[in-house]
Amino acid sequence: MKHPTDPPFAVWEDAPNPTMLSAADIQGLNDRFRTEPSEVLLTWAWETFGARAAIGTSFQGAGLVMMHLCQQRGLPLPVFTLDTGLLFPKTLALKGRLEAFFGCTIESLEPDLTLEQQAAAQGPELWARDPDLCCTLRKVVPLQGKLAQLDCWITGLRREQSDTRTAIGFVELYAFDEANHRSIVKLNPMAAWSRQAVWDYLRQHQIPYNPLHDQGYRSIGCQPCTRRSGSGDTERAGRWTGFQKTECGIHTFMARKA
Ligand code: SF4
Repeated sequence: MKHPTDPPFAVWEDAPNPTMLSAADIQGLNDRFRTEPSEVLLTWAWETFGARAAIGTSFQGAGLVMMHLCQQRGLPLPVFTLDTGLLFPKTLALKGRLEAFFGCTIESLEPDLTLEQQAAAQGPELWARDPDLCCTLRKVVPLQGKLAQLDCWITGLRREQSDTRTAIGFVELYAFDEANHRSIVKLNPMAAWSRQAVWDYLRQHQIPYNPLHDQGYRSIGCQPCTRRSGSGDTERAGRWTGFQKTECGIHTFMARKA
């Protein structure tokens, strides 16, 4: 049986079980990908996992770059987004513009509870009182349902974005469902990209982006929890202003194995 770390790439009829990957395998992949362009990592994901790999994006710049790289190289990796019901109208409009631009469908993952049901169960404006719980209900739980279908989750995380992201690897392994001994590969093909490089790429290829970026929003999430931030701040400084919270939880709810 061919091993996922072996070159050259090959199409797998049955995606390999990430649980079989060892810490040494992950280290080997990171060593191999350290000097490779992002498209090599995306190609590896498709040829290793097929449609059991998918790009998750909130339509920040890095996600858009990955979608373009996939389109240019004929990699039909599925794309999904978390629609909390609290996104900016401009973000929702961007989703439609991107689907038209790339000729693809972007899957929207929605919470179990409508905003009205959440208000009835938890009180109004949960985000203003307990953003961790709100993010769990509206982001983490829907994501967990999607990840249960995947072996490889591809993100647009970049090391430069915040202090919590400086140590991310290109390839990481997480315990997704410990009771059933299920692990998942998290692939961060954009880890080494700077914000400037992302924006240069978007402009060079005239890729649609969120117009809120032109209005001082550097990182864009849900409307109640996103503020404009200055260029001297970290990119995510405008998120959850007033709370000791820098991550919504989707990148922190699983235990990292390697
Ligand atoms: Fe709720 Fe804010 Fe989290 Fe969105 S970002 S899910 S509104 S707490």
